Amino acid sequence: MKKIKTFALMSTALIAMTFSPITNVAQASTDTDNIGTENIMSVAWFQTSSEARALYYQGYNTATNNMRNKLAQPSDRPYAVVLDIDETVLDNSPYQAYALKNNVSYPTNWHNWILSAQAKALPGVKNFLNLANANEVSIFYVSDRNKSTETDATIKNLTEQGLPQADKDHVLLKSDGESGKSTRRSQVESQYNVIEYIGDNLTDFNDPETNSIDGRNDDVNTDSTYFGDKYIILPNPMYGGWESAIYNNNYAISDAEKSKLRQSYLNYYDPNTDSVTQIKAF
Ligand SMILES: [Mg+2]
Repeated sequence: MKKIKTFALMSTALIAMTFSPITNVAQASTDTDNIGTENIMSVAWFQTSSEARALYYQGYNTATNNMRNKLAQPSDRPYAVVLDIDETVLDNSPYQAYALKNNVSYPTNWHNWILSAQAKALPGVKNFLNLANANEVSIFYVSDRNKSTETDATIKNLTEQGLPQADKDHVLLKSDGESGKSTRRSQVESQYNVIEYIGDNLTDFNDPETNSIDGRNDDVNTDSTYFGDKYIILPNPMYGGWESAIYNNNYAISDAEKSKLRQSYLNYYDPNTDSVTQIKAF
């Protein structure tokens, strides 16, 4: 009897699986009561996955090997390394978790988070920077945090995490009205032989001509041989220039529009037609 019942239940489940209509694949969700919930998997991955941790080790191990190779070569200028801060040196994922939980977005309370100076150093960065420091390599932290209001808290946070050369000569934040990091990069390059740039966003390496999905991919294809060499890229699935490109760089659009645009670029498999296509149907 039990066996028959089990079989009947399995059969029902199998029929349901076989004949479930798969007709709404291309239909976007319109539930944007809390668009922040769309970031849960990204933040969960960043905070819990050993794979994320391993990618940071991989990035900083590669950076260490590059540095050792360079230091074996003579240079007419002193050596330096240039790093972004957020999601490169310091882990701000607790802010991302706060934002998704409360359905708010950057910059709401971002400044408070920076002033709290509670961000932890990411895996691998401390050993890499201590080795650089021990070899008299100059370290430049080039970040778009606000120079006038966030320098002191940033230096405090970096110092408390045991990271070297965290002072006003080496923590180069964004001045009011400044656009991008190219001026600060040039400033370092004029005096130093930069071994490598380390970041989680293309703008940590150069400024793409157009921050569009195709433009960014073209940029990376052109510079493909730099990655793992002059450029060390670290993982950030939570936010970045890639997200901005999806919105055509307009964060002022509604949450509903953002959600639609996010889905509109997905390539999806449609079992009804046995083909892969892009949703784009909005
Ligand atoms: Mg960053």
